[in-house]
Amino acid sequence: MIGGMSWESSVVYYQLINKKAKELLGGFHNCPNIMYTVDFAEIERLQREGNWKVMDTIMADAAKRLEHAGADIVILCTNTMHLCSEAIQQMISVPFLHIAEATAQAIEAEKLTKVALLGTRFTMEKDFYKNTLVNDYGIEVIIPNEAERTQIHDIIFGELVHGEIKDASRKIYQQIIQRLGDEGAQGVILGCTEIPLLIQAEDVTIPVFNTTKIHAEKAVEWALDMQTIKN
Ligand code: GLU
Repeated sequence: MIGGMSWESSVVYYQLINKKAKELLGGFHNCPNIMYTVDFAEIERLQREGNWKVMDTIMADAAKRLEHAGADIVILCTNTMHLCSEAIQQMISVPFLHIAEATAQAIEAEKLTKVALLGTRFTMEKDFYKNTLVNDYGIEVIIPNEAERTQIHDIIFGELVHGEIKDASRKIYQQIIQRLGDEGAQGVILGCTEIPLLIQAEDVTIPVFNTTKIHAEKAVEWALDMQTIKN
């Protein structure tokens, strides 16, 4: 796992993979894993500067370190940084499980065809994430309007990545999700690994796709299929 973006959600990944392995295998099982944690201060600065070339190098280097350390599968514990997924895939020979791919499969399994996407400004506005859903799975994606995107992004970076969970911010997210539901979204992708710290399924009236949970659990299922975890 490439973690640290932010560590508030990496902790959740760690819990989820171990819980899932225990659920599937029982007994004393957990999920053997290695996490390489980057310093989010550097990543956050590079994101603001738009320096994706340098971030490609950092992410690819992190993935390589994990492969060298013995990882059989690599996952990147953030939606936004999947902008660097090509650089990662070119650098390693073990499989890389893409978060948008895992999410698209979860949406397809629920037979939904139109969903809203919440995440950082990068995830909502750039094509890298939507492309997987639209081109590879035929899922229509709607995003919040400009003012809403600013609110969503600012709450992620101003609060959630620092572990601050505020009722007032939850209300803002609930109102935005409600409006997107009225606009025709059949479900909503919580497309930032910290959003599930704020919003749970019971907080809204349309189905939520918690990318942290979907990604972490899919990684365990995949590891079991590949027999990298053994019963
Ligand atoms: N964890 C967040 C995400 O899933 C945002 C932090 C980042 O910019 O990587 O997109």
